[in-house]
Formats: sequence, C-alpha cells, structure tokens
Amino acid sequence: MKLICIGRNYTEHIEELENEKPTDPVIFLKPDTAILLKKQPFFIPEFSNDVHHEVELLVKINRVGKYIDRKFADKYYNEIGLGIDFTARDLQRELKEKGLPWEKAKAFDGSAVIGEWLAKDNFEDVDNIDFSIHKNDVIVQQGNTSHMLWKIDEIIEYVSKYFTLKIGDVIFTGTPAGVGKVVANDKLKGFIEDKALFSITVK
Ligand code: ZN
Repeated sequence: MKLICIGRNYTEHIEELENEKPTDPVIFLKPDTAILLKKQPFFIPEFSNDVHHEVELLVKINRVGKYIDRKFADKYYNEIGLGIDFTARDLQRELKEKGLPWEKAKAFDGSAVIGEWLAKDNFEDVDNIDFSIHKNDVIVQQGNTSHMLWKIDEIIEYVSKYFTLKIGDVIFTGTPAGVGKVVANDKLKGFIEDKALFSITVK
C-alpha cells in the first residue's frame, strides 16, 4: 500500500510557510515503512532539529481505480480518519532551496501517524468536517475540510490520473495552519469533531 499526501491544500497554511499558491495540487508519497506502529512513541530522528506536526484528514481507498471522475470518487472510499504528516522542516527547507524532492524530510520511518477510522456514513457532508490536534492538552491546529483548496473528490480525481489507487491506500489531504515543532515528552492527541482518534507521545 502507499500513502499519497497533498501539500499546500489550505490557504492559511500556505501563507504561514510563505509558499506560493499552487495551480495544481502538490503531491508526494510516503512508503509503508513511514507508518508509525500502533501504540508506539514517535522518535524525533537524529537528522532534524525542527520536526513539525501536520494534522490531516485521511481517506482510505476501498476499490482499485484509475482516471476516476470526481463525480464517482465517493464510491472509492468509505472510511475517514485522522493522522499526522510529521515533517523535518529544517531538512525540507534545505531540499526546497536546492529544488530537490522532499522525501528525506517527509517519508522517514514513523513520519506517518494513522489513527482509528470512522465510517463515512457518520458524516452528513465530508466537505464540512472539523478536526484538530492538541499538544499537551492545548489545541494547536484546527481545520475544517470546507477550507480545502481541493476537496476530497477532486483529490481522488487528480491523483488517480498519475497513480492507480489500490485497496488500502491512504490519502493525506493536507494540513491547515498551526503547524509547529514537537519536542521530547510532548503528547499529541487528534480529534475529528469530538472523537479522539490517536494519542502519541514524542521521544
Ligand atoms: Zn502535510
């Protein structure tokens, strides 16, 4: 399985990193080795001094598809989740400056947190879902999927032009504003509406 991640999908986050607004979605992949194993702490890798949390709404693909039209995209997932796209921001900045791919900063072991899944039927409108992350019991990021530049169905249409989607693939739909550094002993808790879907300790 693969993890497909969307970058720069919320205007306020684009502004906080002083990035340009893209005309197409920014896409990168993480390998399955990036998934943080359940109940394990997240270890800050030795090659970074500035790892950031990026909380993101997740979609789990449940049918094989290629060139999926956005009109039918909702048939390709029935679970919604929440995760973290951990990012070594210092390394990413270096790579960006050199025009190099971001993988070392984004796809390292443990960089993908995937919380519990919720049936899509729980939601009246997937384009209006509130989610948040708390660091040491303080809300540090909150978003609503209505603020995404590319909505879930548009993302599925777009990424499936390039990559065949397979059962079990997970899409990280991008982070809202409020990304920030994590340090040892931080506790990160993720919520969709009032449901806690993951709880992670940083080491
Ligand atoms: Zn991200």
